Amino acid sequence: MANRHYRCNLCGRDFDAHDQLKTHTERRHPKADVHWWVVAEEPGSLPFE
Ligand SMILES: [Zn+2]
Repeated sequence: MANRHYRCNLCGRDFDAHDQLKTHTERRHPKADVHWWVVAEEPGSLPFE
C-alpha cells in the first residue's frame, strides 16, 4: 500500500496531512498562488530522491 503525501509545488516539500501543508503554505508562501497535489510513493521506490 502506497503512502500518500501532499506536495507543495513551490518548494517541493512533502507533508503527511493536508492540514500540515495548509499551515506550511500560510506561513511560507502567504502571498503565493499555491498549487499542490497528492503524490503516491510505492514502498521501495522513491523516484524523487
Ligand atoms: Zn512550500
